Amino acid sequence: MLCVLLSRNTLLSFSRTGLRHLERRAQLPRPASADVTRHRAAGAASFVPQLGFHTSRRLRALPAPLVFLVLKPAQKLVAIILGRSIRKWWAALPPNKRQQFREAAWRRRWHLLAGGAVLSAVMAAFLLTHLDESPVTGRTRVMVFSRESFMELSQLQSDMYLEEFKDSILPQKDPRHQVVEQLITHLAQRNQDVTEMSSITWNVHVVDLPVQNAFIMPDGKVFVFTGLLDVVADIHQLTFILGHEMAHSLIGHAAEQASLSHVLDFLSLILLTAVWALCPRDSVAALGQWLQGKLMQFMFERPFSRRLEAEADQVGLQLAAKACADVRAAPVFWQQLELVEELHGEPPLPEWRSSHPSHQNRAKQLDRLVPQALELRANCMCPTLPEADPRAVFSEAMRHLVEEAREQQRAEKEKKAGQAGLITVPLPALQQTPPAPGPPVPLGVVMGPSPALPQPLTSK
Ligand SMILES: [Zn+2]
Repeated sequence: MLCVLLSRNTLLSFSRTGLRHLERRAQLPRPASADVTRHRAAGAASFVPQLGFHTSRRLRALPAPLVFLVLKPAQKLVAIILGRSIRKWWAALPPNKRQQFREAAWRRRWHLLAGGAVLSAVMAAFLLTHLDESPVTGRTRVMVFSRESFMELSQLQSDMYLEEFKDSILPQKDPRHQVVEQLITHLAQRNQDVTEMSSITWNVHVVDLPVQNAFIMPDGKVFVFTGLLDVVADIHQLTFILGHEMAHSLIGHAAEQASLSHVLDFLSLILLTAVWALCPRDSVAALGQWLQGKLMQFMFERPFSRRLEAEADQVGLQLAAKACADVRAAPVFWQQLELVEELHGEPPLPEWRSSHPSHQNRAKQLDRLVPQALELRANCMCPTLPEADPRAVFSEAMRHLVEEAREQQRAEKEKKAGQAGLITVPLPALQQTPPAPGPPVPLGVVMGPSPALPQPLTSK
């Protein structure tokens, strides 16, 4: 893969010295903030919907997503009214008329089946003619919306966010803004081999709010919250997170998600009409509608979203590798978040209920991809990484933490026992000198019952 050669200064900026320099300038606090407790998806997650674009030709474009979004609730309402009207009409028919309809439907069953087959064929043809190849990964996918139509929506949303955060956006001279801007520019320069990269002008906005997130709009507007800067451990983690967000934009995940949503919505309109027509009462139909919505969510939307997140992690790691970041730091970021949740006793959200993979699975996936990313990094003439692997450093720190916690727990137990009036008798010291050599002893004698341990005595 092509790599843009780094200037000497840029190379230095990613050496350890450079890292410290950047951190000092940005005054990035170290993690272990209690705020992370509430963190569910961190920087790589969706505080707001991610928007992207794709390279479909305009001719293939359907009406703009904005129109689609406005019409969506109306379509649902029409389906409910239509289904309900069919049910009321059927209930009002006299029995002989109903029988006539049943007999007519049976006589024309083959026509009805042929109609269903034609409708299925039209849908299949529609999907086949809207297949697209995902940039970077080359994955085949269904894309209904055009890049142009998504750009319109993106610009509109970007303007809304700029208006919403206008009082919290840091000035360009702020070191935190400068670090994020440097990283974005660096990632873009080092990944010029990605065709879509050159078509985006990146525009950085650092928002001074304790939200642990970042997102990039398809029009190139980058929003990074200072809450995220508070939870990343170093510049390498931040580079990976920004790479992840860039990956969403470059691959056009938002347009892809909207396309899936469009197809699913069409199917659910048919199902919704059927539910409201076939259920005997409105209350049952409402329950059926709720169940149908949940099924769509858990069977299609969330697994699809998790798949896109995993892909953004994979591509983000590649972008960070070509930008000479220490990619070994990426899995550590998710391990940190997992640990903080555990320390605060937060039960992890089961993955099947989440739109994002679990922290643990993200860390595992990245860990598997690290060797490949290190190879890519080495091919990009990046400076040699320090021997200390951040993953090993983190594991060692965890081991110490666990030992300390156990020690603290033991001390507390002893303190409580003392307060309850218990006297603990020390265990007899183990024999230090080895027994004198003698004739071989049968195994049964060696493994004989151990002497009873002295029990604590209760003081009177
Ligand atoms: Zn993401």
